[in-house]
Amino acid sequence: ASGYTLLRDPHHNKGLAFMEKERDAHHLRGLLPPAVVPQELQIKKIMHNLRQYQVPLQRYMAMMDLQERNERLFYKLLIDNVEELLPVVYTPTVGEACQKYGSIFRQPQGLYVSLRDKGKVLEVLRNWPHRNIQVICVTDGERILGLGDLGSQGMGIPVGKLALYTALGGVRPSACLPITIDVGTNNEKLLNDEFYIGLRQKRATGEEYHELMEEFMAAVKQIYGEKVLIQFEDFANHNAFNLLAKYSKSHLVFNDDIQGTASVVLAGLLAALKVVGRTLAEHTYLFLGAGEAGTGIAELIALEISKQTSAPIEECRKKIWLVDSKGLIVDSRKNSVQSFKKPWAHEHEPLTTLYDAVQSIKPTVLIGTSGVGRTFTKEVVEAMASFNERPIIFSLSNPTSHSECTAEEAYNWTQGRVIFASGSPFDPVEYDGKVFVPGQSNNAYIFPGFGLGLVISGAIRVHEDMLLAASEALAAQATQENFDKGSIFPPFTNIRKISARIAAAVAAKAYELGLATRLPPPRDLVKYAQSCMYTPVYRNYR
Ligand code: NAP
Ligand code: MN
Repeated sequence: ASGYTLLRDPHHNKGLAFMEKERDAHHLRGLLPPAVVPQELQIKKIMHNLRQYQVPLQRYMAMMDLQERNERLFYKLLIDNVEELLPVVYTPTVGEACQKYGSIFRQPQGLYVSLRDKGKVLEVLRNWPHRNIQVICVTDGERILGLGDLGSQGMGIPVGKLALYTALGGVRPSACLPITIDVGTNNEKLLNDEFYIGLRQKRATGEEYHELMEEFMAAVKQIYGEKVLIQFEDFANHNAFNLLAKYSKSHLVFNDDIQGTASVVLAGLLAALKVVGRTLAEHTYLFLGAGEAGTGIAELIALEISKQTSAPIEECRKKIWLVDSKGLIVDSRKNSVQSFKKPWAHEHEPLTTLYDAVQSIKPTVLIGTSGVGRTFTKEVVEAMASFNERPIIFSLSNPTSHSECTAEEAYNWTQGRVIFASGSPFDPVEYDGKVFVPGQSNNAYIFPGFGLGLVISGAIRVHEDMLLAASEALAAQATQENFDKGSIFPPFTNIRKISARIAAAVAAKAYELGLATRLPPPRDLVKYAQSCMYTPVYRNYR
């Protein structure tokens, strides 16, 4: 190919890093200024530029431009500066990007499958330039982060998640496919926005919706086979649970909002117990929010308790209480709640407020998964601190503005006694002369390694024991040094090492359960996982 084409191909372009000999061999002379700049210096320059931007969205756009221009540089940048850049390509900034996706739209990313493609989904998938796909991340845009229905503009989420699959989990970029299913949107603001990029109609539901999903899932299997991982992302809960249950029988599917969240939060709890003491079964849990995240986490906690105590899961669920928008979920509501809430309708008098539920249940662990900010009020947090020496409080709702309380509030209102984690990052907090670095219960700890584990073992189904294995592997990575600073999660700087360990644990489970097809099993799974990971150093083109 000509040098000009090479410079415009993001998979091969190195910009000023092309060396003299490469410039000769590939007709690049004159197309680049004379300076030859090593990758490290390119990174330094871009980080310098990124830090000049005051507006987070500008950083996001600069990152996306880089991804479209020089893929290896993009991933090297992300890996080397993961703590600083994660909030840019992921929550919270990606949320704002999705809200404004239409007006910042430049180069299309990912694949759009809309109602108009009905009957032609296979063709649409065939238009994608790569065939050896290992991980698909798909959304229908109905519940983007805690921001609601963003229709086609939800595309920022699968694009961002898959960037993390590569950067944090080492799955090759060309093996990742972001997809948005567009069945319309109920977001009036977007429907009236002249720059909206999606179908301008109300969401299709019922048969029409499921037929498109069915065609899509069948087409994926037909083209990519049984070992492609399909990660469902940011579907509304009225579809998410059903899709997961339905397709987990025939496909390798994983719902990050339900299962990934559950796994990372369980890891946080397992680590927190090393600080607080007592076993999982000896704690009492209260959730604000009984949707995908809340019930997903609750179920995984119950499952782990059941494994640890050999008690039936129905018994274990009784340690866990959930509050939804109508109040505490109790037995008298059993017939009126959605089916995924039914297992949590325990015997109790009806209560409508969180505060009353806290006072009555006296939880040792309070977890916010409501998507509504400022709901862990001073009186709620102070109540937690009044009957717990070390209350465990997780404010998981995203983005930052939706967090149930801030890190600062959590430490202040508990006199620094809280074990706190949040969904979106918070800056360190100083309380009474001590600096706390709150942990971020970020799904990005789990899903990249989890997916890598499935890929390297050639797993054909996801099993819940794999989620437990991932939680334990992550919890084992949090050190006393992290605990001393108030964090129950290890820092993101070591994430590729952490991902390799999670991948190994997940792959080991896949082999143990007979769900792995890559045979014989590698002897050292951690080493094997590491050896499979994509690294973004430049290749030599001579
Ligand atoms: P979801 O399925 O829509 O569930 C939301 C739940 O919150 C529902 O049960 C809803 O009640 C309840 N709720 C809404 N408003 C409420 C209020 N004012 N008071 C009490 N309950 C209320 O959403 P999701 O997928 O679970 O996500 C929820 C939040 O968790 C989002 O902000 C998301 O970003 C965050 N999240 C964080 C992480 C993480 O930290 N790693 C991971 C996943 C999700 P009804 O059922 O009565 O409508
Ligand atoms: Mn999500």
